[in-house]
Amino acid sequence: MVNEHPLSRGTVYICEICGYGYRRIGLAEQCELHCDSMQPSAEIRGKAVYRPPVEIVPTITVEETASQRSFA
Ligand SMILES: [Zn+2]
Repeated sequence: MVNEHPLSRGTVYICEICGYGYRRIGLAEQCELHCDSMQPSAEIRGKAVYRPPVEIVPTITVEETASQRSFA
């Protein structure tokens, strides 16, 4: 399911699988379909308005991400 993130410059729809964000929910849904089939689409990602600082890998947990931030 697509995550909706209200930001100061407008809502961004985030692909839950790879973390890329899009202005249009349709693009985020297409991204999720591609990511779900293990074939991320470079064409769709090229339209992303938000890119995760690090590519999200399913094995990384929230706790690990938080502890990494505490070193920054
Ligand atoms: Zn995706």
